[in-house]
Amino acid sequence: MAQDDPSGFLASLRRDLADLESRGLRRSLRVIDRVEATRIVVDRRTVVNFASNDYLGLAANPRVRAAAANAILEQGWGDGASRLLAGTRAVHAEAERRLAAFRGAEAALLFPSGYAANLGLLQALADPGAVIVSDALNHASLIDACRLSRARVVVYPHRDVAAARRALEEAGGASRRLVVTDAVFSMDGDLAPLPALLAAARETGSVLVVDDAHGNGVLGAEGRGTLEALGIDPAAPDVVVTATLSKAFGGTGGFVCGAREVVDWLVTRARTFIYTTGLVPAAAAAALAALEVLETDPWRRQDVRAHARRLRTRLRDWRPELAAAWSPESWEVPIVPVLVGGTAETLRASERLLALGFFAPAIRPPTVPEGTARLRLSLSAEHAERDLEALAGAVCEALEA
Ligand SMILES: *Cc1c(COP(=O)(O)O)cnc(C)c1O
Repeated sequence: MAQDDPSGFLASLRRDLADLESRGLRRSLRVIDRVEATRIVVDRRTVVNFASNDYLGLAANPRVRAAAANAILEQGWGDGASRLLAGTRAVHAEAERRLAAFRGAEAALLFPSGYAANLGLLQALADPGAVIVSDALNHASLIDACRLSRARVVVYPHRDVAAARRALEEAGGASRRLVVTDAVFSMDGDLAPLPALLAAARETGSVLVVDDAHGNGVLGAEGRGTLEALGIDPAAPDVVVTATLSKAFGGTGGFVCGAREVVDWLVTRARTFIYTTGLVPAAAAAALAALEVLETDPWRRQDVRAHARRLRTRLRDWRPELAAAWSPESWEVPIVPVLVGGTAETLRASERLLALGFFAPAIRPPTVPEGTARLRLSLSAEHAERDLEALAGAVCEALEA
């Protein structure tokens, strides 16, 4: 039986939800009944999944699964305590050593998620006397991290190095100056101008903080990420990188890597490291296995990048206007945005795509700016070439109908 709502609390929520619904902005969960590599079962239909960030297909990889399962059987499931209390296991320390080596950094520190890594890093590095200069399209976790730090935040237009440099120059009196950016922007798939940002940081005595959630494991000759791809020294003292284990690594958890002093400071100061239970040991074991697969299976990063190029080429051939939103250096990035504009049209296109057998949800405000709703196609090494050909055709059909 419905209960009374004397304060009108629930009625106010219903009203706000109805308002979002009427504007096409209400979100709801869709249950995926089964996942098998790139095939998922939605509403009892098997469709091809283009909505996963499992770029290398490692979430279902037998070696990664076995490593996680064995770790659970041998070491238990939960970590049981904060890393600073009884929560640091040998497998955490080993994963941190190997992740640091992989990224070419001196040290690394695991967090329960990439979101937590960003929050903890900026909160620990910046205080209210600091200035953080932040790209307008940075990921929500970086935006929240800026807020948690209580630093003064200057947002610069997307990829505008001159504006970032001006903001850094004008922050002369700050206790510390940081310029913060996604390496690969999560909804656009374009790259940050890291070499120019680093130069601006150096000229102003600032630190460059890079979130490489989407480049890690995918970009660069060895898959070491966007810094490798753009020729930036990952051991530079004025560069700090965050990344996640939940995308190309196919698991869960996040990490920060940089100089030993940075990690030492985070252990003592990062709230999302200290006041939370350690990452489940099996996730660290899975990350170690993922690092091995990255080494033995270079075809995974090569294929997913070739897929991105192939899909973009097809879409450009058939709908040249779509390519206008893709910067030239982003063609191998496995995030392919198909800009539609309005939320209603984007929702319709996504539903049509689903009817044609392809799952790619509509990305709407506030995840992306007003008027730039889009389909976000994310690719996996496990997709077949014919999946991409079929997807390109279906996207064009869904946009036309
Ligand atoms: C996904 C993502 C994160 C968060 O990573 P999780 O491990 O899923 O919490 C952080 N930054 C960017 C740019 C991301 O795309």
